[in-house]
Amino acid sequence: MAPLCACGCGEQIQLKPRHRCPTKGVPRYIQGHHPNPLRRFYSIVRAQGLLLTRDICRKLRISETQYHRLEAAGVFPQPRRWGCLPRPGMRVFAPANVARLRAALRKMLHGGGR
Ligand SMILES: [Zn+2]
Repeated sequence: MAPLCACGCGEQIQLKPRHRCPTKGVPRYIQGHHPNPLRRFYSIVRAQGLLLTRDICRKLRISETQYHRLEAAGVFPQPRRWGCLPRPGMRVFAPANVARLRAALRKMLHGGGR
């Protein structure tokens, strides 16, 4: 019986003639089922109840480019950074920050005086 894919999907690895080669052997994963370190990072952040830049932008209805522009202009405060290689310094946000960012965005759009 062919071994199962190591990702946990339950599918069997299709044995091919080249898998008899002693230097390569049978692969551990089906092609494309290898764990993605970035995806693992994002799921750790989301499991802690934190939001990523993409989630914040979706809530504020602005693009990520616009977010970075406003952050560089000082409209938005510097967010908390988290991560390690291969992705150090990811921006992470607590859900409570959304209201503050939305207020800063509104103030910038409509002016502080009115
Ligand atoms: Zn798999």
